[in-house]
Amino acid sequence: MNAAIALIEDEPDIRKLLSGFLTRSGCTVREAADGIAAAELLSDEPFDLILMDLMLPGISGETLIADLRRHSDTPVIVISAKSMLETRLEVLRLGADDYILKPFDLSEVLVRMEVVLRRAGRTQLPKLLRVGKLTLCPAENRACWADIPLALTAKEFQLLLLFMEHPKKVYSKANLYESVWNEEYCYEDNTVSVHVSNLRAKLKKASGCDLIETVWGIGYRMKEDAT
Ligand code: CA
Repeated sequence: MNAAIALIEDEPDIRKLLSGFLTRSGCTVREAADGIAAAELLSDEPFDLILMDLMLPGISGETLIADLRRHSDTPVIVISAKSMLETRLEVLRLGADDYILKPFDLSEVLVRMEVVLRRAGRTQLPKLLRVGKLTLCPAENRACWADIPLALTAKEFQLLLLFMEHPKKVYSKANLYESVWNEEYCYEDNTVSVHVSNLRAKLKKASGCDLIETVWGIGYRMKEDAT
């Protein structure tokens, strides 16, 4: 992911973890370790996305978001240990785009960032994704196997889009649910498995092989060698 990120977090270990991970993922990261440095950083230069803790020395995350929203629509994802529903709703009401609870999963942070950036129109979806004989055109809602169109539901299409964007990545059910359904994954149910297995069946019928594999105990990923 090629994006300019402002990372606002006062805990050095978490800041280092996120900064290293995002840099390795292709982002340019600028850091602020307290609220005052954050306010300066944000007035300094434009960012594609802001990742922000709430409990910060100097100026709170809530105040930073409220100030930011007076003049900017840069997407904000809050990463906080504050788990009260009221806090989360308040922060979303102030103008944050998403809320991730600590402790977090790094791959979930990346997926949520992609979703928020896409929603904000800050990343261009590729015109055509290709994995072997499988092609997918996001703008036209069209997916094909060897040029033969696949009849997919909207959810199946979005699942396939995620798999094809990162063919090596293993997506957990929570990753998939939160990206495609855009709701918090609160309890284990079979919504994701049902849709993934329908998608798998359609891909198998078209291609004659299993294009998505189950990684036991973790989730699903594209089976690249089969395409
Ligand atoms: Ca903090």
